[in-house]
Amino acid sequence: MRAKKNVRRGAASKTDALVRELEKLAALEPGGAPDRPIAVETPAVIDMRAIAQPCPLCEGSMKLEEHAADEIDGVRLRVAAIACTSCGVRRKRYFRLTAPTVH
Ligand SMILES: [Zn+2]
Repeated sequence: MRAKKNVRRGAASKTDALVRELEKLAALEPGGAPDRPIAVETPAVIDMRAIAQPCPLCEGSMKLEEHAADEIDGVRLRVAAIACTSCGVRRKRYFRLTAPTVH
């Protein structure tokens, strides 16, 4: 099975304005900003969830670079740093643990 569209040349040919617009849209998605984290029950699923969606700029596949615990505005978050394997753009995705177990 062959994809209909040709392989694109990453984000290099796009204007800065368009890239910024796409970044802005990406930040509005769940997990795109610290105040919009994706709720997960276990950190084990974060690595997979972080790269589940393709690059917002070129639709290339993402790879996980770093998975860290962070605290932003008093909320403990997991931050996955991901990078596009195609155009190299870096993003962060935010997760909040909703552990059902008693701590
Ligand atoms: Zn990309």
